[in-house]
Amino acid sequence: MHRSCAVSLSGALAGLFACAVTAAQLDGDIGPRLLRDAAVRAALDAARADEPRTIADQIRLCEIPAPPFKEAARAEAYAVAFRAAGLTDVRIDAEGNVLGQRQGRAPRPHLVFSAHLDTVFPEGTNVAVRRDGAVLRGPGIGDDCRGLAVVLAVVRAMNQAAIQTPGTVTFVGTVGEEGLGDLRGVKALFRDTLQGQVDRFVSVDGSGFGITHISVGSVRYRVTVSGPGGHSYGAFGIANPVHALGRAIAALADVRPPADPRTTFNVGRIGGGTSVNAIAAEAWMEVDMRSADPNALGALERQFHEVVDRALSSENARWDERGRLSVAKVLVGERPAGRLAAEAPIVAAAVSVTRALGLPVELTEGSTDANLPMSLNIPAITIDAGGQGTGAHTLDETFDTSDSWRGTERALLTAIALAH
Ligand SMILES: [Zn+2]
Repeated sequence: MHRSCAVSLSGALAGLFACAVTAAQLDGDIGPRLLRDAAVRAALDAARADEPRTIADQIRLCEIPAPPFKEAARAEAYAVAFRAAGLTDVRIDAEGNVLGQRQGRAPRPHLVFSAHLDTVFPEGTNVAVRRDGAVLRGPGIGDDCRGLAVVLAVVRAMNQAAIQTPGTVTFVGTVGEEGLGDLRGVKALFRDTLQGQVDRFVSVDGSGFGITHISVGSVRYRVTVSGPGGHSYGAFGIANPVHALGRAIAALADVRPPADPRTTFNVGRIGGGTSVNAIAAEAWMEVDMRSADPNALGALERQFHEVVDRALSSENARWDERGRLSVAKVLVGERPAGRLAAEAPIVAAAVSVTRALGLPVELTEGSTDANLPMSLNIPAITIDAGGQGTGAHTLDETFDTSDSWRGTERALLTAIALAH
């Protein structure tokens, strides 16, 4: 920022303009102000004119399978597209994220503008995309092939209109955003690849026009109760892992988390035992807990530990410690929670841009790649990528391309705004 203003003191006209824009930073007027810039308007026109190509990219990328932990083929194709679009220093990091740079007048502020490569669909899923008038059908077509295509479109439009941003943008395709991936891509990005170098983060994810400024956090555990087990009749009188699990589930079911901030729990899967006439040697459950508030989530997590430990001691005490049970609680998923006020500069800028383009403003909560930077106090949002989608995470997912260019324009203007 200071560097841009120093340039303006030299009297260069471009510098003066840069200073005016940067000095005001991300206030709620950045949208209308950017629209007065001829180069920005040219970029928006380019994005709109280029929308058929954006849709073609969306289909092409989506037909490359990207199951959890197996995003490599799609990542390769994305890297090729990044190079073709003119990004520099295009690379794939150790975790599998694809990165490409677009230099601004200065290295900072440094914006990461991203979409996720992975899908929820296992290997072998038919990922062919069918076109039905304006509607595209195929698994992942909206979430997040749309985001991937829009990120590419933003690069192309910025280059076609020779947009010069004060700060630098790194465009990224992340791995591991969906459930099982547990945000492994974005975690690696902030822990290793770009550690300490990111000032702002945007994930372009899914369809519509929402702006996600509240990150719902989650913790997930797999709980396994173990004991010696034995014959249901012959060994009767020892502690029973299935019974202990039952006690734990009953106690969990009685927990009353706060309604505001919304905080939830779920025992999603249970299992164990080998036979109706055997005392099980093992029983297990998988538990999911969520909240947009880190404190509420932490409190619920502590309750969960207490409840499970108490259930175990009750079952052991019931049988006078005969066939004593043990329990393992393994954390199998962790997405940190976070929230930004609607007035936070990055949110205000996205709202301003959305309004300036005549689009509806819809502030939402969600669980996305933005959770991670938000938890590190790095300004982060997730924006929808336009169009209309249905059936995310199902084989019947659809994406309606009618006026989808509006989402591309919004993403473009957001990227330009946040590179200030
Ligand atoms: Zn997604």
